[in-house]
Amino acid sequence: MNRRNTESTNEILAILKQAKSALNHEMIQERASVKMDRATIYRVLNRFCEDKLVHKIVGDDGKQYFAFCTNCQEKHHQHNHFHFRCTECGKMECMQSEVKVPLPDGYVVRNFNGVISGVCSSCV
Ligand SMILES: [Zn+2]
Ligand SMILES: [Zn+2]
Ligand SMILES: [Zn+2]
Repeated sequence: MNRRNTESTNEILAILKQAKSALNHEMIQERASVKMDRATIYRVLNRFCEDKLVHKIVGDDGKQYFAFCTNCQEKHHQHNHFHFRCTECGKMECMQSEVKVPLPDGYVVRNFNGVISGVCSSCV
């Protein structure tokens, strides 16, 4: 991996760590100090997902959002929490309470993509 790639990787991770909400690729591009193309951003984000640093949410706007994993241990990368997308300011937040979904015996959850949209407390 060349130096530019390493810089992009570090910067994207720092942006996600600082953000209090999940970000889509446009939001990351806006916050980045250097210009990064879409393909680079997605490649980096997908690697972060594989490395369990971030989790991916597909919004009801059809966009992919990425949130930094704050309390994911290696084996507990579950993300069974809802996400709230504000239709006014566009913010996508992780709702911290865990959601228990009743499933039939023998079913294993691999992914949880729960998105609620509405208006957040600062936009009401
Ligand atoms: Zn995680
Ligand atoms: Zn809002
Ligand atoms: Zn989340």
